[in-house]
Amino acid sequence: MKLQVLVDNHTYIDAYYLGEPAVSFLIEEDGKKILLDTGYSDVLLRNAAQLELDLSKLTHIVFSHGHNDHTRGFQFLKENIDVSSMHLIAHPDCFLPRADDTDVFGAPFSAEEITELVRYQPSKSPVYLTEKLVFLGEIPRRNDFEASEPIGRRYKDGTWEKDYVIDDSALVYCGEDGLFLISGCAHSGICNMIAYAKEVCGDHRIVGAIGGFHLLDVGRQLTETIAYLKACNLKQLYPCHCVSLAAKAAMLAELPVTEVGVGLTLEMK
Ligand SMILES: [Zn+2]
Ligand SMILES: [Zn+2]
Repeated sequence: MKLQVLVDNHTYIDAYYLGEPAVSFLIEEDGKKILLDTGYSDVLLRNAAQLELDLSKLTHIVFSHGHNDHTRGFQFLKENIDVSSMHLIAHPDCFLPRADDTDVFGAPFSAEEITELVRYQPSKSPVYLTEKLVFLGEIPRRNDFEASEPIGRRYKDGTWEKDYVIDDSALVYCGEDGLFLISGCAHSGICNMIAYAKEVCGDHRIVGAIGGFHLLDVGRQLTETIAYLKACNLKQLYPCHCVSLAAKAAMLAELPVTEVGVGLTLEMK
């Protein structure tokens, strides 16, 4: 499995890619080319061109969840390449309208519009994209220290309701040495995700994780998450996107953290 960071908040010194507060990872596994999230703007296309990556050969697009820093880049993607034969995997609630008192931040297209554009495959259950790469679907939320606060509201069945982003999911690679989790924002809780990945894949070894872990404040969630991750005995951890500097610093003191930036490439068996 090969993973390349195409969009992230961060760029490395002397590597002239563009950053934006968003996520997109390109994953190549067993002949499939999978894009997890599309970023917010055309930065995805511009970084892919700079990295000499051909996105027209994508087989799958996966949305970790519906927020527009993960889905809005799809507008630019579809205007520049033919996406009609690509599979799009997401939770069925991914395309609901979302807002708070000041902003709208849902995906800029409805499930109906998506169905017209790509081979849309909504799923709450796990979906195997290859023998070893799984979209987890809806993540059970069992820990009381994470995923407890709503983020604005979502419009479902004619009413606006508190949005706990239950569509938030992740990919997991079931490698030779154990599981590797790939998250977008981890609104479901990174520890909930790891626990569910172990259950779905039937493997209790977790070697690492990359993605937004939605750790912004220093407090109980961060403390409990670090304790959980330490107990997992991870070999590599790549917190990015929605992880604050303070949270990264706390993690760096206790976990095998590596700095993430656009262009980072990971390969594993
Ligand atoms: Zn989000
Ligand atoms: Zn995000």
